[in-house]
Amino acid sequence: MQQTKATANTCLHAPSVRFAPSPNGLLHVGHARSALLNWRFARDHGGEFLLRIEDIDTARARPEFESAIFEDLAWLGLDWSIPVRRQSEHFADYEAALSELRRLDLVYPAFLSRSEVADRLRTAEIAGKPWPRDPDGAPHYPGDDRTLTTQQRNRRIADGKPYAWRLDMRKALDGLGEPLFWDEYGAGPQGETGRIAADPAAWGDVVLARRDVPTSYHMAVTIDDAIQEITDVIRGEDLFEATSVHRLLQHLLGLPAPRYRHHGLVLDKTGRKLSKSNRATSIASLREQGATRADIIAMAGLRLET
Ligand code: GLU
Repeated sequence: MQQTKATANTCLHAPSVRFAPSPNGLLHVGHARSALLNWRFARDHGGEFLLRIEDIDTARARPEFESAIFEDLAWLGLDWSIPVRRQSEHFADYEAALSELRRLDLVYPAFLSRSEVADRLRTAEIAGKPWPRDPDGAPHYPGDDRTLTTQQRNRRIADGKPYAWRLDMRKALDGLGEPLFWDEYGAGPQGETGRIAADPAAWGDVVLARRDVPTSYHMAVTIDDAIQEITDVIRGEDLFEATSVHRLLQHLLGLPAPRYRHHGLVLDKTGRKLSKSNRATSIASLREQGATRADIIAMAGLRLET
């Protein structure tokens, strides 16, 4: 399958898909499910399967986890196009996108620390005022910094106060005109499928460049899907809601929108989604204990193909 788009001849516009793990732990059976679904899709449609290493969190990413990703995927019988895109090598691409959003005046430097936001939330709760939370349960960022003057911002920056760049969600949505949709041919957590109305407001002013890293998950994933010309994003349903933010960024930056297929997650015996911190459900440790490729494919809820 290591063909390029130019040589893929099964259909005129061959699809491109990607598996995009973060090398901050060992892959588990849920990752195997996602990787296999992507790889099989590319194979069945004469498309290209790309591997992307999402290592923007340079403090947590480790080379040994990246090697383990390659090893586990090869052991599962998967191959991928090269070169592999490593996000930490492309910060300039994300910075260019941020500059464009700065030019459009849609982002602002946000100075409040996580604990200052938590204090704000507590104060509001004590006063009986509900504080909005994003779909992951994190409190929305208070809007204070939005209204700082350029002079006040510059002074804080000159004083060395750390800051992240956040999207001014209200302003971004004000300029939108029409609502945004995406094409979902998998299903969200509630079985949502078809033409899905994006709801980026549910996330509040999301971070687009962190204090310590010149990008964020939302920014990097959106830019990379465009640069890598991904046509079909196949990933776990835990990222269904995040798609609203990705659609908005695509719109603001004039990027194409891929189709999305969110798939169900592999759950443990207690019904919880698998976690990288639990070594026991990692592909590597299951292999060590003698699991076969067929065992892992079955645990991933997929049928073995011969
Ligand atoms: N890097 C993300 C993860 O490991 C996946 C990103 C995506 O598929 O959009 O969960």
